[in-house]
Amino acid sequence: MRLETLRNLYVNQLRETYNAEEQIVAGLTKMEAAASNPQLKQAFKQHRVETENQVKRLDQIFSSLGESSSGETSKALMGLITEGKEIMASSGDADVIDAGLIGSSQKIEHYEIACYGTLIAYARLLRDTQGEKLLQQTLNEEYATDKKLTALAESMVNAKAMQSVGSHHNGSGSDGGISVAGLLIGAAAGVAVGMLLAPGAGNESRKKILDGANNLLDQVGGQWSGIAETVKTTINQLTGQANEAVEKATPNIKKNNNVKRSNGNGNPTPPVSSTTNPNF
Ligand code: FE
Ligand code: FE
Repeated sequence: MRLETLRNLYVNQLRETYNAEEQIVAGLTKMEAAASNPQLKQAFKQHRVETENQVKRLDQIFSSLGESSSGETSKALMGLITEGKEIMASSGDADVIDAGLIGSSQKIEHYEIACYGTLIAYARLLRDTQGEKLLQQTLNEEYATDKKLTALAESMVNAKAMQSVGSHHNGSGSDGGISVAGLLIGAAAGVAVGMLLAPGAGNESRKKILDGANNLLDQVGGQWSGIAETVKTTINQLTGQANEAVEKATPNIKKNNNVKRSNGNGNPTPPVSSTTNPNF
Protein backbone atom coordinates (compact mmCIF):
# COMPACT_ATOMS: atom_id res chain seq x y z
CA MET A 1 0.00 0.00 0.00
CA ARG A 2 1.38 3.39 -1.01
CA LEU A 3 0.02 6.40 0.85
CA GLU A 4 1.52 9.41 -0.83
CA THR A 5 -1.57 11.60 -1.12
CA LEU A 6 -4.75 12.13 0.88
CA ARG A 7 -6.59 10.66 -2.09
CA ASN A 8 -4.60 7.41 -1.65
CA LEU A 9 -5.68 7.32 1.98
CA TYR A 10 -9.30 8.16 1.08
CA VAL A 11 -9.48 5.25 -1.38
CA ASN A 12 -7.70 2.93 1.06
CA GLN A 13 -10.15 3.79 3.86
CA LEU A 14 -13.13 3.53 1.52
CA ARG A 15 -12.00 -0.02 0.62
CA GLU A 16 -11.53 -0.97 4.27
CA THR A 17 -15.01 0.38 5.07
CA TYR A 18 -16.46 -1.42 2.05
CA ASN A 19 -15.08 -4.70 3.35
CA ALA A 20 -16.40 -3.88 6.83
CA GLU A 21 -19.91 -3.29 5.45
CA GLU A 22 -19.80 -6.60 3.57
CA GLN A 23 -18.90 -8.39 6.80
CA ILE A 24 -21.68 -6.50 8.60
CA VAL A 25 -24.36 -7.64 6.14
CA ALA A 26 -23.46 -11.27 6.95
CA GLY A 27 -23.13 -10.50 10.68
CA LEU A 28 -26.52 -8.79 10.94
CA THR A 29 -28.21 -11.74 9.25
CA LYS A 30 -26.79 -14.02 11.96
CA MET A 31 -27.63 -11.56 14.76
CA GLU A 32 -31.23 -11.37 13.57
CA ALA A 33 -31.45 -15.17 13.74
CA ALA A 34 -29.82 -15.27 17.19
CA ALA A 35 -31.97 -12.55 18.80
CA SER A 36 -35.08 -13.55 20.77
CA ASN A 37 -36.73 -10.19 21.36
CA PRO A 38 -38.99 -9.47 18.34
CA GLN A 39 -38.15 -5.76 18.30
CA LEU A 40 -34.43 -6.50 18.39
CA LYS A 41 -34.84 -8.99 15.54
CA GLN A 42 -36.67 -6.31 13.58
CA ALA A 43 -33.96 -3.71 14.33
CA PHE A 44 -31.24 -6.07 13.05
CA LYS A 45 -33.29 -6.86 9.96
CA GLN A 46 -33.94 -3.21 9.18
CA HIS A 47 -30.28 -2.30 9.57
CA ARG A 48 -29.23 -5.25 7.39
CA VAL A 49 -31.39 -3.83 4.58
CA GLU A 50 -29.89 -0.36 5.21
CA THR A 51 -26.39 -1.84 5.17
CA GLU A 52 -26.97 -3.50 1.80
CA ASN A 53 -27.86 -0.03 0.53
CA GLN A 54 -24.75 1.43 2.20
CA VAL A 55 -22.64 -1.02 0.17
CA LYS A 56 -24.34 0.29 -2.97
CA ARG A 57 -23.54 3.90 -1.98
CA LEU A 58 -19.88 2.96 -1.63
CA ASP A 59 -20.04 1.26 -5.06
CA GLN A 60 -21.25 4.58 -6.48
CA ILE A 61 -18.34 6.44 -4.89
CA PHE A 62 -15.80 3.92 -6.25
CA SER A 63 -17.19 4.17 -9.76
CA SER A 64 -17.17 7.99 -9.67
CA LEU A 65 -13.52 7.88 -8.51
CA GLY A 66 -12.69 5.26 -11.14
CA GLU A 67 -11.33 2.94 -8.44
CA SER A 68 -11.88 -0.70 -7.53
CA SER A 69 -13.67 -1.48 -4.27
CA SER A 70 -11.59 -4.56 -3.47
CA GLY A 71 -8.17 -4.96 -1.93
CA GLU A 72 -8.61 -4.24 1.79
CA THR A 73 -9.82 -6.31 4.73
CA SER A 74 -11.16 -4.70 7.88
CA LYS A 75 -9.38 -6.63 10.61
CA ALA A 76 -11.10 -4.52 13.25
CA LEU A 77 -14.50 -5.66 11.98
CA MET A 78 -13.33 -9.26 11.89
CA GLY A 79 -12.49 -8.94 15.59
CA LEU A 80 -15.80 -7.28 16.47
CA ILE A 81 -17.74 -9.91 14.51
CA THR A 82 -15.79 -12.66 16.31
CA GLU A 83 -16.87 -11.17 19.64
CA GLY A 84 -20.47 -11.09 18.42
CA LYS A 85 -20.24 -14.73 17.34
CA GLU A 86 -19.11 -15.69 20.84
CA ILE A 87 -22.29 -14.13 22.25
CA MET A 88 -24.39 -15.85 19.57
CA ALA A 89 -22.81 -19.24 20.34
CA SER A 90 -23.50 -18.87 24.08
CA SER A 91 -26.08 -20.95 25.88
CA GLY A 92 -28.03 -19.40 28.73
CA ASP A 93 -30.78 -16.87 29.29
CA ALA A 94 -32.32 -15.44 26.11
CA ASP A 95 -32.65 -11.92 27.58
CA VAL A 96 -29.03 -11.87 28.72
CA ILE A 97 -27.92 -13.04 25.27
CA ASP A 98 -30.07 -10.30 23.66
CA ALA A 99 -28.38 -7.71 25.89
CA GLY A 100 -25.01 -9.09 24.76
CA LEU A 101 -26.05 -8.88 21.10
CA ILE A 102 -26.98 -5.22 21.53
CA GLY A 103 -23.62 -4.49 23.14
CA SER A 104 -21.77 -6.28 20.33
CA SER A 105 -23.68 -4.54 17.57
CA GLN A 106 -23.23 -1.12 19.19
CA LYS A 107 -19.47 -1.65 19.18
CA ILE A 108 -19.77 -2.19 15.42
CA GLU A 109 -21.92 0.92 14.96
CA HIS A 110 -19.41 3.02 16.85
CA TYR A 111 -16.60 1.67 14.67
CA GLU A 112 -18.59 2.60 11.57
CA ILE A 113 -19.33 6.07 12.95
CA ALA A 114 -15.57 6.60 13.28
CA CYS A 115 -14.97 5.30 9.72
CA TYR A 116 -17.60 7.50 8.10
CA GLY A 117 -16.65 10.59 10.14
CA THR A 118 -13.09 10.24 8.86
CA LEU A 119 -14.17 9.55 5.27
CA ILE A 120 -16.45 12.61 5.24
CA ALA A 121 -13.58 14.81 6.42
CA TYR A 122 -11.37 13.49 3.58
CA ALA A 123 -14.17 13.81 0.98
CA ARG A 124 -14.68 17.43 1.99
CA LEU A 125 -10.99 18.27 1.64
CA LEU A 126 -10.76 16.44 -1.70
CA ARG A 127 -13.92 18.21 -2.93
CA ASP A 128 -15.71 14.92 -3.56
CA THR A 129 -19.10 16.55 -3.00
CA GLN A 130 -21.17 13.60 -4.20
CA GLY A 131 -19.10 11.18 -2.09
CA GLU A 132 -19.47 13.41 0.96
CA LYS A 133 -23.25 13.49 0.54
CA LEU A 134 -23.52 9.69 0.20
CA LEU A 135 -21.20 9.09 3.15
CA GLN A 136 -23.22 11.51 5.29
CA GLN A 137 -26.43 9.60 4.51
CA THR A 138 -24.79 6.40 5.74
CA LEU A 139 -23.35 8.10 8.82
CA ASN A 140 -26.85 9.31 9.72
CA GLU A 141 -28.13 5.72 9.48
CA GLU A 142 -25.31 4.46 11.73
CA TYR A 143 -26.15 7.12 14.34
CA ALA A 144 -29.86 6.30 14.14
CA THR A 145 -29.17 2.57 14.54
CA ASP A 146 -26.94 3.16 17.56
CA LYS A 147 -29.65 5.33 19.13
CA LYS A 148 -32.33 2.73 18.44
CA LEU A 149 -30.23 -0.03 20.02
CA THR A 150 -29.62 2.13 23.10
CA ALA A 151 -33.38 2.73 23.40
CA LEU A 152 -34.13 -1.00 23.08
CA ALA A 153 -31.51 -1.87 25.69
CA GLU A 154 -32.62 0.80 28.16
CA SER A 155 -36.36 0.41 27.70
CA MET A 156 -36.55 -3.39 28.03
CA VAL A 157 -33.70 -5.74 27.13
CA ASN A 158 -31.23 -4.82 29.87
CA ALA A 159 -34.01 -4.76 32.50
CA LYS A 160 -35.15 -8.25 31.45
CA ALA A 161 -31.55 -9.48 31.52
CA MET A 162 -31.25 -8.02 35.03
CA GLN A 163 -34.28 -10.05 36.17
CA SER A 164 -32.70 -13.27 34.98
CA VAL A 165 -31.70 -15.46 37.91
CA GLY A 166 -29.76 -17.95 35.82
CA SER A 167 -32.47 -20.61 36.05
CA HIS A 168 -32.12 -21.42 32.35
CA HIS A 169 -28.44 -22.19 32.61
CA ASN A 170 -27.10 -25.47 31.31
CA GLY A 171 -25.11 -26.44 34.40
CA SER A 172 -21.99 -24.42 33.70
CA GLY A 173 -21.24 -20.79 34.49
CA SER A 174 -23.08 -19.19 37.37
CA ASP A 175 -24.53 -22.45 38.72
CA GLY A 176 -21.00 -23.70 39.29
CA GLY A 177 -20.05 -20.33 40.79
CA ILE A 178 -22.91 -20.43 43.30
CA SER A 179 -21.87 -23.90 44.50
CA VAL A 180 -18.27 -22.82 44.97
CA ALA A 181 -19.37 -19.66 46.80
CA GLY A 182 -21.59 -21.70 49.14
CA LEU A 183 -18.78 -24.14 49.85
CA LEU A 184 -16.35 -21.32 50.61
CA ILE A 185 -18.75 -19.65 53.06
CA GLY A 186 -19.47 -22.99 54.72
CA ALA A 187 -15.78 -23.80 55.02
CA ALA A 188 -14.95 -20.37 56.47
CA ALA A 189 -17.80 -20.55 58.98
CA GLY A 190 -16.71 -24.08 59.90
CA VAL A 191 -13.12 -23.15 60.72
CA ALA A 192 -14.30 -20.13 62.67
CA VAL A 193 -16.67 -22.22 64.81
CA GLY A 194 -13.87 -24.75 65.35
CA MET A 195 -11.63 -21.96 66.59
CA LEU A 196 -14.23 -20.67 69.06
CA LEU A 197 -14.76 -24.17 70.43
CA ALA A 198 -11.03 -24.45 71.06
CA PRO A 199 -10.24 -21.38 73.18
CA GLY A 200 -7.14 -23.07 74.53
CA ALA A 201 -5.50 -22.96 71.09
CA GLY A 202 -3.76 -19.65 71.87
CA ASN A 203 -3.79 -16.18 70.32
CA GLU A 204 -1.40 -16.97 67.47
CA SER A 205 -3.20 -20.16 66.43
CA ARG A 206 -6.59 -18.41 66.52
CA LYS A 207 -5.18 -15.61 64.37
CA LYS A 208 -3.94 -18.09 61.75
CA ILE A 209 -7.30 -19.85 61.65
CA LEU A 210 -9.15 -16.53 61.39
CA ASP A 211 -6.84 -15.32 58.58
CA GLY A 212 -7.61 -18.54 56.71
CA ALA A 213 -11.36 -18.00 57.11
CA ASN A 214 -11.04 -14.35 55.98
CA ASN A 215 -9.06 -15.43 52.90
CA LEU A 216 -11.76 -17.94 51.95
CA LEU A 217 -14.49 -15.33 52.36
CA ASP A 218 -12.55 -12.78 50.29
CA GLN A 219 -12.80 -15.18 47.32
CA VAL A 220 -16.59 -15.16 47.38
CA GLY A 221 -18.04 -12.84 44.74
CA GLY A 222 -21.28 -12.11 42.88
CA GLN A 223 -24.64 -12.46 44.58
CA TRP A 224 -23.06 -14.31 47.54
CA SER A 225 -20.64 -11.52 48.45
CA GLY A 226 -23.13 -9.86 50.85
CA ILE A 227 -23.61 -13.09 52.80
CA ALA A 228 -19.86 -13.70 52.87
CA GLU A 229 -19.32 -10.16 54.22
CA THR A 230 -21.87 -10.74 57.02
CA VAL A 231 -20.25 -14.07 57.98
CA LYS A 232 -16.85 -12.35 57.97
CA THR A 233 -18.03 -9.52 60.24
CA THR A 234 -19.65 -11.99 62.64
CA ILE A 235 -16.65 -14.31 63.01
CA ASN A 236 -14.28 -11.36 63.40
CA GLN A 237 -16.49 -9.89 66.14
CA LEU A 238 -16.77 -13.26 67.90
CA THR A 239 -13.01 -13.67 67.71
CA GLY A 240 -12.51 -10.24 69.20
CA GLN A 241 -14.82 -11.14 72.09
CA ALA A 242 -13.01 -14.46 72.60
CA ASN A 243 -9.67 -12.69 72.73
CA GLU A 244 -10.95 -10.12 75.22
CA ALA A 245 -12.18 -12.93 77.46
CA VAL A 246 -8.81 -14.68 77.24
CA GLU A 247 -6.94 -11.43 77.96
CA LYS A 248 -9.11 -10.67 81.02
CA ALA A 249 -8.41 -14.15 82.32
CA THR A 250 -4.65 -13.63 81.83
CA PRO A 251 -3.91 -9.98 82.85
CA ASN A 252 -0.12 -10.42 82.66
CA ILE A 253 -0.19 -11.00 78.90
CA LYS A 254 -2.17 -7.76 78.40
CA LYS A 255 0.21 -5.81 80.61
CA ASN A 256 3.27 -6.98 78.66
CA ASN A 257 1.67 -6.13 75.31
CA ASN A 258 0.94 -2.55 76.42
CA VAL A 259 4.51 -1.62 77.43
CA LYS A 260 5.29 1.69 75.70
CA ARG A 261 8.58 2.06 73.82
CA SER A 262 10.39 5.31 73.05
CA ASN A 263 11.24 6.19 69.45
CA GLY A 264 14.19 8.33 70.52
CA ASN A 265 12.34 11.70 70.34
CA GLY A 266 10.71 11.31 73.67
CA ASN A 267 7.45 10.29 72.00
CA PRO A 268 6.06 6.91 72.80
CA THR A 269 5.69 4.63 69.77
CA PRO A 270 2.42 2.74 69.53
CA PRO A 271 2.46 -0.83 70.77
CA VAL A 272 3.43 -3.29 68.05
CA SER A 273 0.43 -5.39 67.22
CA SER A 274 0.94 -9.10 66.65
CA THR A 275 -1.73 -9.05 63.97
CA THR A 276 -3.10 -6.90 61.17
CA ASN A 277 -6.70 -7.49 62.27
CA PRO A 278 -8.03 -4.59 64.40
CA ASN A 279 -10.30 -6.98 66.29
CA PHE A 280 -7.31 -8.84 67.70
FE1 FE B 1 -22.98 0.34 8.01
FE1 FE C 1 -24.17 -0.01 10.82
